[in-house]
Amino acid sequence: MAAFRALMLHEAGGKITPRLEMVDEERLPPGEVTVAVEYSTLNYKDGMVLNGVGRLVRAYPHVPGIDFAGTVETSQSTAFKPGDKVLLTGWRVGETQWGGYAEKARVKADHLVRLPHGLTTRQAMAIGTAGFTAMLAVIALEWHGLPKGSEVLVTGATGGVGGTAIALLSHLGHRVVASTGRAEFKTYLEGLGAAEVIHRATLGTPPSRPLDRERWDGAIDAVGGTTLATILTQLKYRASVAACGLAGGSDLSTTVIPFLLRGVNLLGIDSVMCPRESRIEAWRRLARDLPLDRLDRMIEQVPLSQIAGLAPRILGGQIRGRTVIDVHA
Ligand code: NDP
Repeated sequence: MAAFRALMLHEAGGKITPRLEMVDEERLPPGEVTVAVEYSTLNYKDGMVLNGVGRLVRAYPHVPGIDFAGTVETSQSTAFKPGDKVLLTGWRVGETQWGGYAEKARVKADHLVRLPHGLTTRQAMAIGTAGFTAMLAVIALEWHGLPKGSEVLVTGATGGVGGTAIALLSHLGHRVVASTGRAEFKTYLEGLGAAEVIHRATLGTPPSRPLDRERWDGAIDAVGGTTLATILTQLKYRASVAACGLAGGSDLSTTVIPFLLRGVNLLGIDSVMCPRESRIEAWRRLARDLPLDRLDRMIEQVPLSQIAGLAPRILGGQIRGRTVIDVHA
């Protein structure tokens, strides 16, 4: 029986222990397509799984990794054949079933997306769930009438969602204002395309009134909490904020006044159960609209053997850009 290397999480008395192990292929979960994984990534949610936060995993031992890219090895589906390059994000892979922190993964054919033309498997994972989410947010703003040459706020700017959103929006001709708690990364953010960098503290105190000065034509928010509440008071008439994340908190204390008097829109972004057609369109857009030289500036590559040590850092907001994992190293 063929065996492959995987990062396996074990649970005992509420404590999660990661171990690199050789695993028999027959232990892979059911699925039509077996993929030889090349790269995975470290997302915020992976940090939660690796640290046992949020009860996302119900059964141990467990292979984490909410996204991966690689080559089809065997397929019982006519949609894919051996040798096809594919990627996967979401569908609760890496949570309710084994994920991408391994040399092999077995999944449903419907959950795979063909690697878009122009991207390598490494670049696809440099984008990963975070960048895919940023693309969904940009598309949502466009559907809600984001004018050309808009001023768009991006929060959580040094993170994966934020960085990709900056690169996409600036490439599309918008003026991007990046909000960060780490002023030392100003040059990095400007290199991704930010026209202005503001400190996250300016958005981080509870709004003192239901409407503030109209400032943003649109916003992509990875932070939530007070930050999102403040953005709602500062959106221009009929502008939209795409709410992607909760890095700063999941509560939202607001009033209905911005919705009633300014007609603003709060757009929810979910990458996990996003329908297949929308996924294919988002990946087509990523391959077309994301400048790869800027993506390169966001990448740190680490071997699978070191990933568990980085998990607390992503939950602590200490990772910059995107962490790509070479599952063979
Ligand atoms: P990262 O950890 O890469 O980035 C998060 C960023 O948020 C940090 O870099 C930091 O940016 C900022 N931040 C961290 N802690 C705080 C804090 N306490 N208060 C304010 N800002 C903070 O994560 P991702 O970019 O991958 O994900 C961002 C969020 O989006 C997460 O909450 C994640 O769960 C969510 N997400 C949601 C998805 C969806 O489908 N809706 C999919 C993917 C992610 P800075 O230092 O620049 O301020």
